[in-house]
Amino acid sequence: VLQILDARIPLSSLNPEIERITAGKPHLYVLNKSDLADPEITRQWLAYFKSAGAGCIAMDSKQRGRATATKGLIEKELSALMERRRSRGMVGAAIRVMIVGIPNVGKSTFINSFAGTTRAKAANKPGVTRGKQWISVDSFDLMDMPGVLWPKFDDQSVGMNLAYTGAVKDDILDVETLGCHLMAYLGAHYPDALTAGYKLPQLPQREPEENDIAYGYRLLEAAGRKRGFLISGGEVDTERMAKILLDEFRSGKLGHFTLELPE
Ligand code: GDP
Repeated sequence: VLQILDARIPLSSLNPEIERITAGKPHLYVLNKSDLADPEITRQWLAYFKSAGAGCIAMDSKQRGRATATKGLIEKELSALMERRRSRGMVGAAIRVMIVGIPNVGKSTFINSFAGTTRAKAANKPGVTRGKQWISVDSFDLMDMPGVLWPKFDDQSVGMNLAYTGAVKDDILDVETLGCHLMAYLGAHYPDALTAGYKLPQLPQREPEENDIAYGYRLLEAAGRKRGFLISGGEVDTERMAKILLDEFRSGKLGHFTLELPE
């Protein structure tokens, strides 16, 4: 079972239902979109998964030139995982790899990179992969599964992480609320990226007992004012600023961020 995770939110993008159904099968995790993630934290996640006995690689599926190298890496990881199977005499049969991941995590792009073709259709919209399909590559049969999101998020922060990265459609959650929460996180963990990205002489400091929404809102205001997003009366258009923030977060323009740390 090859689960493609978003390197920026490895836990939130991991489908617990898939884990439950496939318990007992060899697992390989791909930390995809690692080009957008914090490289230091990606290293920590790699160590975390490996210490749990699972194969794990970091990947940027969009980098074309890396297709061959990446394939070699995956084959190596998978063959290590399949060694036990081979030693039991189960040779010859193609290794069936079920590829799963939440919508928009990069399944199609990953498969294209792995197969070296453009068979799977990639799109910049959640949920383009529909219906399951088998793709044969060398000694592997890859099963491309449609993006499956589990029905409910136990934790509100999981839902928000999925929204920041674009796994769930924007219209499901209020953009300004999302922007406030994301700003508050970045203000706490990546303050330098905010001051640099929005050319702020100084980052507004969090007041004691100020919640995420209130602090994030002040950060949105400061950034929006600096960008000149004003509406009548000199107020800052914080909704516009929230949209820009999400765009710049998703594209990596603001920096390389990871929103979840291994325990
Ligand atoms: P799927 O819904 O899981 O099949 O996702 P897609 O393969 O359609 O990819 C969704 C979006 O993410 C597309 O815009 C891809 O170009 C982009 N994408 C996929 N992999 C990567 C990656 O490793 N890095 C970056 N920056 N973007 C990626």
